[in-house]
Parts: sequence; C-alpha cells; structure tokens
Amino acid sequence: MKIAIGMFKHETNTFSPVRTAWEDFGPGGPLRGEAALKAFRGSGYAMAGLIAEAEAMGAEITVPIAARALPSAPVEESAYERIADTLVAAARECDAMMLDLHGAMVAAHVEDGEGELLARIRQAVPGLPIACALDSHGNITQRFVDNATVMPGYRTYPHLDMPETGAKAGRLLREVLAGRLEPVTVLHQVPMLPNMLRGATDAEPMASLIRAADEAEASGLSCVTVFTGFPLADTADTGLSVVATAHRDRAAAAEAASRIGALAWSLREDFTMPLGTLDEAMDEAAATTEGPVILADLSDNCHSGGTMDSVAVIAAALERGFEGILAGPICDREAVAQAIAAGIGATLTLEIGGKQAIPALKQPLRPLRIQGTVRSLAMGRFTVEGPVFTGMQVDLGRCAVIETPKLTVVVSEGRVEALDPLQFRIFGLEPARYRWLVLKSKTNHRPAFRPLAKAEIQVNGPGVASLDLEAFDWRRIRRPIFPFDRRNT
Ligand SMILES: [Zn+2]
Repeated sequence: MKIAIGMFKHETNTFSPVRTAWEDFGPGGPLRGEAALKAFRGSGYAMAGLIAEAEAMGAEITVPIAARALPSAPVEESAYERIADTLVAAARECDAMMLDLHGAMVAAHVEDGEGELLARIRQAVPGLPIACALDSHGNITQRFVDNATVMPGYRTYPHLDMPETGAKAGRLLREVLAGRLEPVTVLHQVPMLPNMLRGATDAEPMASLIRAADEAEASGLSCVTVFTGFPLADTADTGLSVVATAHRDRAAAAEAASRIGALAWSLREDFTMPLGTLDEAMDEAAATTEGPVILADLSDNCHSGGTMDSVAVIAAALERGFEGILAGPICDREAVAQAIAAGIGATLTLEIGGKQAIPALKQPLRPLRIQGTVRSLAMGRFTVEGPVFTGMQVDLGRCAVIETPKLTVVVSEGRVEALDPLQFRIFGLEPARYRWLVLKSKTNHRPAFRPLAKAEIQVNGPGVASLDLEAFDWRRIRRPIFPFDRRNT
C-alpha cells in the first residue's frame, strides 16, 4: 500500500497586501521527502497524526511536498500551481492520499483553493481515497466536499488537537480502505460570520456546538465537524458550516448537519462581540494608574495577515500625552534604512508605518511623524522562548530602535507577532520598565507578556486583521449574511 502524505496550508486574508510566494512556504521553499517526515513526525501538526496512522498501517509513505505559510494575501499563481502540480503528480503514484490542509486558502487566480486542488486530484485519479485533516477556520465549499473522501476538522480553538485530527483522518481512511466505511458527506452552510474571539471552544456559544457534534458521532455518524470559518476572506463561501459524514446514509448525515447548523443560527447573536472604538480604549487606558499596561492592538497581527505597520494605536497614545511608551516591531524597511543612514546617536525626523497601500480598507492607514534619536541598530534574530510557538526562529532582518521623549519604538524589515519579550530585550530594552506596551497580537502575547504587566486593554485599531468586519470593502461574499444583514437573514 502506497500512501502519499502532503501538506498545503494557508489561511488567506484576502484583504491583506502581504504577498504569499513560493519562498513563504518554507525556508527556500516547502520541505519534501525525508526532511519533511523528520520535521513533522511527532510534531504538533495534523501531519504528525497522518504520518503515525500511515506508519501504523505499514504503508509505504512518500511526502511529495509539505508547504505551509503564515496568513497573508492570496497565494501567488506560480506558487499555487507548482504545489498543486506536485500533489496531482503524487496522486498518480499512490493507492491513497492524506492531506494536511487549512480549508480557507484563496489563490490569486482561484477563489476556492482547496476545492480546486481536490477536484484536480479527483480528475487525475478517479476513485482515489483522499483523507483531509482541516482547520476549523476553513470556509468549506461544496466542491471540496464533493471531491474529498473524509474530512475531519479541529475540535478545539485555540487548536490543541491538530495531531488528533490527523489521526482521525487516518483512521477514517483505514476504514474506507478496509471496505467498512462508504462515506457520504453533507455540507450545511450557515449564512453567518462568527467573531473569531467568540470561537473559543471551551466557552459558549461554541461549547454547545462541539457537544452537539460529539453527540452526533457518539450516536453513530462517522465524522461531524463544526467549521466556524475564517471571516477575513471575501469569498462566496466564507462563513460557518457543518460537515457530517455517515456510512452510506445521506439522510442521517443531512439531518445532523442541518440540525447543528440550525443550533448555530439560533446562537448567532452570541457569536457577535461589541467592539469599542480606539478612543474608548484610550479612555480606559487613561484611567489606569500603574504600568506596565499592555495596549493590545488586535487589528494588525501577522498571524492573521496583518502588515504590522499600522501605527494608529501609538499615535493615539501620544495624542493623549502618555509617556514611557514601548512599541514595535513596526515593519517599515524605509524607516530602518533612514535610521541606518543617520547612524547611532543621530537625531532625525521621519515617518514610521502606514506606508503600505491597502485598497480593501475603507480608511487608509497613515504614517506617524516623529523626531527622535537612533538608540541602536541591530539584526533582529532570536528563538522564541515563550510558551506560544516555542522554538520558532524569528528573523526580523535589520532593525533600529528610535527614541523620542515619550516613545521608544523598534522598526524592522521583517514581521513577528508579539510572542516573546525577547523582541525588545535583544535590543537592550526591558518591557517591565515602561508604563505602556503597544503590542500587536490578539491573544498569543498573553502567556509571555501578561506576567510583566499590571493590566491589559484591547484596542481595536485599524488594520487588515481587524475584527471590525465593517472596516472592509466587501465584494464577493454571498448576501444576505449575518451580521451584515441583520434584518434580511
Ligand atoms: Zn485556525
């Protein structure tokens, strides 16, 4: 038995201008073969579960490609075609396929990235069993469902069950190969866009939906997944969906999918979250008496496709007269070059951030003009020691620290979400000594930064990772959809 195991994972933020090229899918391109097996066997990814199941089956395993990139703009056509071609070619050489996919990938020329991929594989090798492990933020399409054999998604968010989901996909595939499972899968799309911060599965409303999916599986269905969807994607299929698989029994799968979909719809208001304005957050900040206080900029983190160059929160803090502000890294190659040209100790006036054109944002980002001293220049390299993404190698490229009387800011060539105080400490800056910490992150900063801070205020600034879906110029999404069309849906 020959099994090809592949990975092609990208959560596409269609509003993001951050490009997604071949090189973004791994250092020097995606991994393959033995190197990929070594990297992902026993790892925290779904691929680990797929590999373990294939090995338990005694299969002859090949890994044609293992490609994953951070969330960013639609995948460039050349990268998509190269990776898809590799997977289609591998499909011709195997008896079954296992894929670690996201479910919300868009390419520059293909809106339904995974559906197109699966359709091409299916066309090349009709009847090939294909097991897919998916992220529960997938925006699932009928085309995907029509071409996959089994397709479980994560049960948890934050995602703590990736390898288990891979193993589940592997076990279902084994049942298919043994002739014990003839899967019939039904997709039920619900016209709603849940707020991502309401998707935590250990709390309501998600806990009820996960419980319903668990009960449906316990009562005999092969696989039931609630996909909350990834809302930062302007596609026809963006949104929550339920996917149910049963052995031969379409009616049973349809009943479970529509019943759990109806439950999600009945809970739709619970999936919204009122967002305060930037001003309101600053009022709240001004009322604090002791620092450090984290000003968490929710709308511009690179793990959701953010450009990491929105400086609106820093500007608002300065306007309020706050002092002792530490911020960054702000991705701005031009500012870094200006600081390097000026040299350490030089005083200069420059504009930081807000320089990238983002057509999808109704309100453009604006740069911040500051006058300051170049305190240091260095390469921004470190290994994450904090509990989120532990061991990740960070390379921010060339960096500069610029100091004004009220603000100390790191500007960088590269991007990193606020995962570890090392992003400041490598430049000799101790975050615990500042009154205000402006960090770009939704939740990933908390384990490493909260112990240093007295309080945290979430700030809904402008940016392509915004939770305020009204901030974007939507064109492709199906209408009506909740919460845009509250009355009509
Ligand atoms: Zn996810």
